[in-house]
Amino acid sequence: MRFITQLPKLCHLCGLTIERSLGHNLWCHHCQPLFNFHQHRCQQCGLTFESSASICGECLKTPPPWDKMVCLGDYQHPLSHFIKRIKNNKQPSMVKPLAQMLSRKIDHPAPLLISVPMLFHHEFLRGFNLSEMMANDIANQFSGSECAHHIFRKHRHTRVQKNLNREERLHNVRQAFSLKRAPSLKHVAIIDDVVTTGATVRHLSELLLEVGVEKIDIYCLCRTPKSSYG
Ligand SMILES: [Zn+2]
Ligand SMILES: [Zn+2]
Repeated sequence: MRFITQLPKLCHLCGLTIERSLGHNLWCHHCQPLFNFHQHRCQQCGLTFESSASICGECLKTPPPWDKMVCLGDYQHPLSHFIKRIKNNKQPSMVKPLAQMLSRKIDHPAPLLISVPMLFHHEFLRGFNLSEMMANDIANQFSGSECAHHIFRKHRHTRVQKNLNREERLHNVRQAFSLKRAPSLKHVAIIDDVVTTGATVRHLSELLLEVGVEKIDIYCLCRTPKSSYG
């Protein structure tokens, strides 16, 4: 006779028992429709837009320094709930299923996955770097991809970007990150948890282009809708 039975897996959104597994234990099939993972997005900036075109008018007019951005969804509830749980409640076990979902949206993955560093004391306090964990989990999904965790260096804290104007945001990130070593490959992806204004990935992409990288993809869990930062 078994005295210890396995505890039922509970949905993190509604609290009910997960009866039908979606391949992970984060939420149940009743809550699945709350996630709008199939919204039409611009392939380049990752923002949603009303058209059947693959690239939005903004990116056609002023292309960003990267080629392609892949994200799971907008930085909105319920996806933002999981990002906050990972970061604030230190629940890194939630990263892997989200990174696997993101991997399924990536065609032709970059052979080199570059994580975004944190300040040493921030990483020490949190106990992990989310970008680094995501890069490892994505690399595990693709036999032809490997991680590079020491391409960039972070020198100082980046102020909250959404309260700054475009010039201030760029100045802010230029002061915060530098290139430590050139990547060994010409096609790379930068792995970030949330892309808000895009100022960080813009600066990091520019640093990579300066040392001869030819194609840059951005893989992130969430993209902040423009209406949230102006
Ligand atoms: Zn649920
Ligand atoms: Zn766009």
